[in-house]
Amino acid sequence: MSCLFCKIAEGTIPSTAVHQDDFVYAFADINPKAPVHILIIPREHIGSLAEATPGHKELLGHLFLVASEIARNKGLANGYRVVVNSGADGGQTVDHLHLHLMGGRPMTWPPG
Ligand code: AMP
Ligand code: ZN
Repeated sequence: MSCLFCKIAEGTIPSTAVHQDDFVYAFADINPKAPVHILIIPREHIGSLAEATPGHKELLGHLFLVASEIARNKGLANGYRVVVNSGADGGQTVDHLHLHLMGGRPMTWPPG
């Protein structure tokens, strides 16, 4: 298994854990773009949102609920942004589905 985020989820590559359960792992982004920048990933390898199937419906919902819970725990009461980059044009650089949770500053719109 050569996937970076699979290795992070299984602990063979170190990361700063923020949340973990049987299905999801969340950790600090190594190159944060906001005061709070956390990545939320499924433990199951899914290459991108484009590769998600109807069988992943519950898992996808769980990822978003974990993002919301982390945002609450981090005190992001003023708001935050959740981003999923998918594929080359989406700006995805790590081919394991992940949610970016960013907050702690006002976000601009539209993203680049
Ligand atoms: P994306 O461009 O949407 O695929 O996002 C990939 C994210 O993974 C970027 O924000 C990177 O900073 C982050 N990243 C890459 N390597 C690591 C790592 N070893 N630990 C934590 N975050 C990482
Ligand atoms: Zn993976």
